[in-house]
Amino acid sequence: MTYVEISESVVFAQNEWGSNSVCIALEDELIFIDTGLNTSDARAFRESMEAKYNRKASTLILTHGHIDHFFGMAAYSDLQVVAAEIGKERFNRIISAEYNTEFVENMSKYFLGFKESVKEAKPFMPTIWIDEKITIGMNKELIFEIKGGHSGCSSVIHYVPEKVVITGDLLQVDVYPYFGEPDTDLEKWISALKTWEGMDIKAVLPGHGRHVEKSYLTGVRVFFEEMLATVKQLKADGIQIEEVAYNSKIPAGYWPKEAVRKPAYDFSITNLYRKL
Ligand SMILES: [Zn+2]
Repeated sequence: MTYVEISESVVFAQNEWGSNSVCIALEDELIFIDTGLNTSDARAFRESMEAKYNRKASTLILTHGHIDHFFGMAAYSDLQVVAAEIGKERFNRIISAEYNTEFVENMSKYFLGFKESVKEAKPFMPTIWIDEKITIGMNKELIFEIKGGHSGCSSVIHYVPEKVVITGDLLQVDVYPYFGEPDTDLEKWISALKTWEGMDIKAVLPGHGRHVEKSYLTGVRVFFEEMLATVKQLKADGIQIEEVAYNSKIPAGYWPKEAVRKPAYDFSITNLYRKL
């Protein structure tokens, strides 16, 4: 994890082993968002932030129920844990799973560092379930809101005083994005991006990749708009499902050329086609 000071009270931990993590220092408590895969790395981040701000952690917020965002949560087992109620079943499925060889081998195909992280992983169920939106902090300065889009339980955090937005996987920077869940909703996703484009925001902290400025969002939103329209058209034109992912009309991405295309991207396009 690389720690980046975003503003006076916000530190962003950019991570290769699972999701990024964020610390927000409120007046007398620390709020953490997502954990990445590795418990030791999450613990080191927490300890470093508690020392830096001389404040205790109070709350862990999870942006959604994907394993790479919460597998390291044992580092926060003494805190209250906030997540979207609509994701309860998804969290439960992973938390109650048996981490046997087959499971570990399968996850290792998708997630760098999974094997190294599984030994000390002790994920547990969130303790506070939210159905729409809450504010946190004495001045209600932190807003947690369920947006859907990437998954039905995708939630975002806005730290109002320092104009920082934490997007979870509604933003995946410099990579082929994953949008292949049964409950992925590109219209909701596009609408969340549009909302941020219209807001006064200084920093956008994604679920994966480096932090960016607001201007980065436009390319991402246009990509998803084009993807949605193109796949709709290809289906209307009678293009077969197995030909859609590599069709020449599929829009070029917002990520750099050297990004690695993985099966999850092709699967996302195929799944979109199926659902339309
Ligand atoms: Zn995700």
